[in-house]
Amino acid sequence: MTTLQGKVAIVTGGSKGIGAAITRELASNGVKVAVNYNSSKESAEAIVKEIKDNGGEAIAVQADVSYVDQAKHLIEETKAAFGQLDILVNNAGITRDRSFKKLGEEDWKKVIDVNLHSVYNTTSAALTHLLESEGGRVINISSIIGQAGGFGQTNYSAAKAGMLGFTKSLALELAKTGVTVNAICPGFIETEMVMAIPEDVRAKIVAKIPTRRLGHAEEIARGVVYLAKDGAYITGQQLNINGGLYM
Ligand code: NAD
Repeated sequence: MTTLQGKVAIVTGGSKGIGAAITRELASNGVKVAVNYNSSKESAEAIVKEIKDNGGEAIAVQADVSYVDQAKHLIEETKAAFGQLDILVNNAGITRDRSFKKLGEEDWKKVIDVNLHSVYNTTSAALTHLLESEGGRVINISSIIGQAGGFGQTNYSAAKAGMLGFTKSLALELAKTGVTVNAICPGFIETEMVMAIPEDVRAKIVAKIPTRRLGHAEEIARGVVYLAKDGAYITGQQLNINGGLYM
């Protein structure tokens, strides 16, 4: 793709944090965006209004992407509204951090459902449309925690590492079709998810980051646009945007 003008994207969990930055960055590149939300209706509607006020096109679509039927609904609504689908950004995610000793089955399953099963749910429903696109893109927002592990994060780490395996295998299967599949692995990014970490723990994390700061959501969003726009020969990769914390 030399330009993203007129392309259609879905961003799961696209109304807050990193997802919102991705939504804005895609829209500012002329992409029509379906902003998926689960419970954040107000922020989804606000971002859609903002995009429309700036002359872009966007819709808000409610769906809990951890359920296959709701993910299908998200894809169908997008196709009905915009007639095509070129870019799928699997961004929706949650944490339920506990040391493994204290981790109950519910918190294990929930985190796997939202972070990993959702990727199967949306991608399987989107595949036919992505194959019809000239240069379809699947971009999975994984995490440094899926690469390096994280204390109290066996559930999250397993889900995010699972996304990386999925990315490489699907990239192999689709390489001949022109659809690329990549993952972005953010380090610690200044969003609600990271600001929920106690301040003293966060300070210790920042002290370990070679660049000595948290990342900005916009820095992840620009990675998404890069892969979407200039990534025809990049597939099955992990783009690490982490301030040098994991190399
Ligand atoms: P966030 O909590 O600000 O945003 C997550 C979004 O996902 C929210 O909009 C939320 O409503 C949505 N969501 C949650 N469950 C959903 C569901 N079942 N269906 C649909 N939407 C759902 O978090 P964030 O920091 O912006 O994280 C975005 C992604 O980046 C996540 O996948 C996260 O794991 C990943 N990530 C974040 C960081 C970080 O430092 N913030 C680092 C690495 C990876």
